Amino acid sequence: MTLSGLEPFESASGAAADLQQRIVDRLIYTVGKDPDRADLSHWNAALSLAVRDHVVDYWHTGMRNRRAHRPKRVYYLSMEFLIGRLLRDAVSNLGMDETCHEAMERLGVDYEAVIQCEADAALGNGGLGRLAACFLDSMSSLGISAFGYGIRYEHGLFRQRIDNGWQVEEAEDWLVSGHVWEFERSEVRHTINFGGHVETDQNGRAIWRPADRVIASPFDTPIAGWQAANVNTLRLWAANPIKMFDLDKFNRGDYLSAARHAVLAETISRILYPDDTTQEGKELRLKQEYFFTAASLEDILIRHLMFHGDVESLPDHAAIQLNDTHPAIAVPELLRRLVDEHDLPLEKAFDITNRTLCYTNHTLMPEALERWPVDMMRHVLPRHMQLIEWIDHQHRKYLENHRTDISFGSTKVIDDYGGVRMGNLAFIGSHRVNGVSALHTDLMKKTVFSDLHALYPERIVNQTNGITPRRWLYQCNPGLRDLLIESIGERWVGDLEYIEAALPLAENANFRERFAEAKLANKVRLAEEIKKRCGISVDPHAMFDVHIKRIHEYKRQLLNILETIARYNAIKADPNGEWTPRVKIFAGKAAPGYFMAKMIIKLINDVAAVVNNDPEIGNLLKVVYMPNYNVSSAEIIIPAADLSEQISTAGMEASGTGNMKFALNGALTVGTLDGANVEIGERVGEDNIFIFGLTAEGVADIRKTGFNSNEIVNNNPELSQAVQMIERGDFSPDDRGRFHAVTDKLRYDDYFLVTVDFAAYFDAQRVIDGAFRNADDWTRRSILNTANVGWFSSDRSIRGYARDMWNVPVGS
Ligand SMILES: *Cc1c(COP(=O)(O)O)cnc(C)c1O
Repeated sequence: MTLSGLEPFESASGAAADLQQRIVDRLIYTVGKDPDRADLSHWNAALSLAVRDHVVDYWHTGMRNRRAHRPKRVYYLSMEFLIGRLLRDAVSNLGMDETCHEAMERLGVDYEAVIQCEADAALGNGGLGRLAACFLDSMSSLGISAFGYGIRYEHGLFRQRIDNGWQVEEAEDWLVSGHVWEFERSEVRHTINFGGHVETDQNGRAIWRPADRVIASPFDTPIAGWQAANVNTLRLWAANPIKMFDLDKFNRGDYLSAARHAVLAETISRILYPDDTTQEGKELRLKQEYFFTAASLEDILIRHLMFHGDVESLPDHAAIQLNDTHPAIAVPELLRRLVDEHDLPLEKAFDITNRTLCYTNHTLMPEALERWPVDMMRHVLPRHMQLIEWIDHQHRKYLENHRTDISFGSTKVIDDYGGVRMGNLAFIGSHRVNGVSALHTDLMKKTVFSDLHALYPERIVNQTNGITPRRWLYQCNPGLRDLLIESIGERWVGDLEYIEAALPLAENANFRERFAEAKLANKVRLAEEIKKRCGISVDPHAMFDVHIKRIHEYKRQLLNILETIARYNAIKADPNGEWTPRVKIFAGKAAPGYFMAKMIIKLINDVAAVVNNDPEIGNLLKVVYMPNYNVSSAEIIIPAADLSEQISTAGMEASGTGNMKFALNGALTVGTLDGANVEIGERVGEDNIFIFGLTAEGVADIRKTGFNSNEIVNNNPELSQAVQMIERGDFSPDDRGRFHAVTDKLRYDDYFLVTVDFAAYFDAQRVIDGAFRNADDWTRRSILNTANVGWFSSDRSIRGYARDMWNVPVGS
């Protein structure tokens, strides 16, 4: 058979020719498109399917292997997996880049454009979800036998449009054009129960009589590790009704109520809550958490019993990691299964539960610690509420028998206001609890969990977050990747600590020149993207000063925009001064219900409109707000950054991972001593990072003693001028009072200490201006960042979890 428009295969390398044929076959016979009529998305599907075949081969080999050797398995339960695009990940981890490129070239199709047309799988809000995605990559790369478990949201995180400077949310629908990376497993259907009541039979056994049931149906995505070391599975659950619709009602013509049950059931996996720090949509959210946790535990128990027969050996063969408290309902759920279904005594069941579970804490902010009203918990999960009461009671007995010096109060699972504290439940139900940076772990021990830590001093461990070098350097920064591979070889991709071989090259003028060229090329690429998406022309030679992350008051985008206004004023006052041209780049989404965060977005855009259109300013200062921040935009922005803004109120950012991505790609950090910034600073050296502002201790102290932020504003000429301009409406002539809520909070209720840190930040930025003017030395420091942050690989994090928490071996 001949296919129209194809070149003969003879001239291509064998692998590319073979792949070319597979792509065309997939396009015609699976996608069902004539090559003459195919658009980019059809080619994307065809290429993905062809690559997927290879992934599946490795996947099956690995599973066969594991069935034979039965290694201990790791289960990573997470409400969020912010995995982004998958094609390039698979291609590069399988070492197929060149083959794919060549095959597409021969087909006359733009490979890069094909990759770019994949929708981002945005099943997460931010750092917590992206961490889960990096961990999947690392667990596969390290040969750990692991499953990720989560929810297959029909609508991931909303798409953000910036409309006249305001954030506008649009429904995200990553599934509409099909998602080729998943396999529906319709043969697996777990029933998940809700509501009802609990009876006791004549033997005193609890019997849960639920009121509602839904079906959990799994969709599996293979996750290949570096060099296809191992392929693990991400299993996401979709909610379905027990029966699709009520035929009786339908026949009576009552179509809507015939489908009612189905609609309610499917609601559970409909949307990702667009907020990872506060609780919303309470009852539905609780149902989502229970839904995916219960389905995952059912799966885990079935698998365990199939391979090992006996439920009591669960902790020897399974380690379950709870990513934050969202799956903390696993504690009473596992207990319930062991007691009610496997007839174990409560104490023994609790011991097994405790030895199987581990918990990662992600925040110390009291408003972000999950807490469910007892009444709601009893209504949705009556049997679990009973078991939570039992756990709390046992815990109290244990505490009173062991440590009379520790008060029960802060350690209670059920607090005095009728709330179930999920953090305490997860802590008590797990044998290991980890913080995500050294500082955060230390603060956990001293603050929220101080009493529980005193009771269980071995339980808290630190595992500083990490990022996968595959996505966050190898894939997203081809210029720097190729330079590094040429200079120090490829070993760092699989073991990032080897990147320190580049250290001496910081002193090599020729290497510095090429490093700077790679950076400039990334900046040109971003400048084009900015032009396309925002219509703003920026000079690639200016400093790219980047602040991208969720918009939150503690992340202090407000501090940055105040400094931007002060900088604008300074330039206006002396237009011919020796200025360092800057492009301030912001991106990030605000939770739709978070008023202050949305006002900050509007303020940034209003300031941008004034600054960017002021002819006196020209290229000395530009302000850009890139809409719809997600993994794919991070992959373009980060490699182009000169300066990384990590300026959270000290003590409030548990770790951060954006900070690591920037440093690895050679940006210098301006930051507070918060989260992993502390550890980044220790590794890159204080000359190669710009630290300013209060420490976590200083923050705690000043909050205790109190301070007058209005006075601070009035006594600082730059700050007071900036605040007054906002108050006067200089940036919002159409609505001069627009930002009063923002400025009033600054003057009278500055919880995030923007005013307190302003002067130090302003000064740090002046030092940075000077440093950037010495371009060659800046490049040297930039190289020292890249070469010194190998420790922040998520491979290192996962080795730590495997060793200190899961007790599983790690391959090479
Ligand atoms: C890394 C990443 C984050 C986390 O960024 P922080 O600066 O650590 O808050 C959030 N969103 C996306 C898309 C990311 O890639």
